Amino acid sequence: MKSCLVVGGGLSGLSAAVHLASNNYQVTLLEASPKIGGRAYSFHDETLDSVIDNGQHIIMGCYNATMEFVKLTGAGDRFIYQDTLDITTVMPAQKMFRLSASTNAYPLNLLSGILNYNVLNFSEQLFAVWLLVKALFPKPQNINLQQWLEKNGQSENANKALWEFLAVGALNTSMQKADAAIFVKIIRRIFLHGNFASTIILPKDSLTDSFITPALDFLKSHKTSVLLSSRVTEVLRTGNRVTGVVTSSGVYNDFDEVVLAIPPYAVAKIKGLDDVAGETDTGFTYSSILTVHCKVAEHTLNRPFYGLIGSPINWVFVHGNILTTVTSDADAYNGLPDYEILSLVQREILRYLGITLDKLQSHRIIREKRATFIPNSSNLPRRPSTITAAKNLFLAGDWIDTGLPATIESAILSGKMAADAITKL
Ligand SMILES: Cc1cc2nc3c(=O)[nH]c(=O)nc-3n(C[C@H](O)[C@H](O)[C@H](O)COP(=O)(O)OP(=O)(O)OC[C@H]3O[C@@H](n4cnc5c(N)ncnc54)[C@H](O)[C@@H]3O)c2cc1C
Repeated sequence: MKSCLVVGGGLSGLSAAVHLASNNYQVTLLEASPKIGGRAYSFHDETLDSVIDNGQHIIMGCYNATMEFVKLTGAGDRFIYQDTLDITTVMPAQKMFRLSASTNAYPLNLLSGILNYNVLNFSEQLFAVWLLVKALFPKPQNINLQQWLEKNGQSENANKALWEFLAVGALNTSMQKADAAIFVKIIRRIFLHGNFASTIILPKDSLTDSFITPALDFLKSHKTSVLLSSRVTEVLRTGNRVTGVVTSSGVYNDFDEVVLAIPPYAVAKIKGLDDVAGETDTGFTYSSILTVHCKVAEHTLNRPFYGLIGSPINWVFVHGNILTTVTSDADAYNGLPDYEILSLVQREILRYLGITLDKLQSHRIIREKRATFIPNSSNLPRRPSTITAAKNLFLAGDWIDTGLPATIESAILSGKMAADAITKL
């Protein structure tokens, strides 16, 4: 039986380990921290007296590699699925709109969904449909998203009430910084690949319960060793092969292949990888996501989530009496003290959803400063392939060249790509 070492217990490392284990590889997973999940994890918060995620994660029907992973780990029933795309957006004073696919057959259901999205006027609706048609043509080159949307007749209102939700949510950066080509790729995947592709899927309970526990159970049943608090510090090489992996607790040399499923800044810290890491860390730039979980005494919200049009808060997710606000592209808030962030959240929740300040009971603010790399024209060409200069060393992670922005799908796909490259050897 061939054996593999997977370094990093985020979703990319879990994906590599699960795919390798299901192909009868003996896998050992080394994770630096005391927990599995990387940037997607849950924990019990004492103030809220509830299990919360480090940040609300949504996935979509077009996340093919993720759907495969979820199926493989038997976690299919740990998610809530939409039948068709359905998003509620809000303007101040609880003015609600629905972007909701109709009961017609695909693709008519999506087209009529856009044509009934009443926050847009008729001409904006037609231009929005036109943009989807435009996405069928070759991808735009050397142009940022804001310029591309303007060039294709999208009004400021359409950008705010439609494209910004998709773009800032999926790319975690502003439309001025994002490369238009990667956005076009996303639109194609969401809107042009059948009804299911455009649906939104949410973890039923916590991220850990939906993604991590089932993957760990799968690995346990495939005799994978998962070693926590095992930070890799050095890689030993003989010629173009890795022969040893040094961790804080010992040296591993009983393996055929190694998958490094860690972010670029972590690769750069490992000795012996100069030719592999190359320029990866020096150039990559990241953007933050700000999450605020608020416990409220009561509310009458009856949708699972709301998109706030024109607010610094992009989304509000409803988890019983906990409202979770998400601000993507949130670098500007990193320096703000907690009380200012809280008062901003209170103001916006009141302004948009009519929930008064005195009903906010307790809260938890989470700033993820390096949430995702920015998909701009400087970072995108830096993305390396899974194959490296060392014959038995493979890279995975949401930053590997999967063609997708830094998402769960990119992470899980990258792990599968590394596993595929190994099983084909
Ligand atoms: C707040 C937030 C919200 C998000 N929302 C969404 C969303 O809605 N939808 C979506 O698709 N994506 C979302 N994402 C992105 C998604 O979480 C990431 O793309 C994905 O989790 C990245 O997984 P990864 O395995 O590539 O990296 P990571 O999760 O960073 O995993 C890397 C792991 O490697 C470990 N490690 C590092 N160095 C070493 C070492 N030397 N030795 C051993 N182990 C090491 C780390 O401890 C970590 O566990 C969000 C991210 C954040 C932060």
